[in-house]
Amino acid sequence: MQNDIQEILISEEEIQQRIRELGAQLSTEYAGRTPLVICVLKGAFIFMADLVKVITVPVEMDFMAVSSYGASTKSSGVVKIIKDLDVPVDGRDVLIVEDIIDSGLTLSYLIELLQGRNASSIAVVTLFDKPAGRTVNLEAGYTGFVLPDEFVVGYGLDYAERYRNLPYVGVLKPEIYSN
Ligand code: 5GP
Repeated sequence: MQNDIQEILISEEEIQQRIRELGAQLSTEYAGRTPLVICVLKGAFIFMADLVKVITVPVEMDFMAVSSYGASTKSSGVVKIIKDLDVPVDGRDVLIVEDIIDSGLTLSYLIELLQGRNASSIAVVTLFDKPAGRTVNLEAGYTGFVLPDEFVVGYGLDYAERYRNLPYVGVLKPEIYSN
């Protein structure tokens, strides 16, 4: 699997250090409150697990599965809910945990959905951001790393369901896509 990686963009150590900083920032922001932390599956599951361990306020967690890519590397623009939340969000401080924002289509769809369900506040923490890919005007309140406009894998992010278990984020060798 490591042999398929052309270049590591962000190392495991850098990711873990940045997550500790984000956790500290969010703990201050949500002091005295109990946010409902929503993991956007599948890509955000590793980030979610590491992030909640370094948040010091009580949190509740829920999971939502959406799909906008299929086996391709560009967003189709159509967001499909594969698994909805189990708990109501009305009156809750919602913190959406995303793996990566590219076009912003997935997130803008989710934010609209949760606003319609009367969340009292909605914030977004994303580990990675590719602002060059944006087709809608949207920014996360909390961002781990800004990445160039390249398709990346690892730390939860897949290509055709593989590479999610790499502890770092990198770029695949071009020949992997032609296989
Ligand atoms: P958007 O709707 O912002 O274009 O894309 C958001 C979703 O697309 C992310 O949650 C992620 O699942 C997927 N995605 C966007 N960029 C990448 C990338 O570089 N690599 C991988 N593996 N997935 C990506």
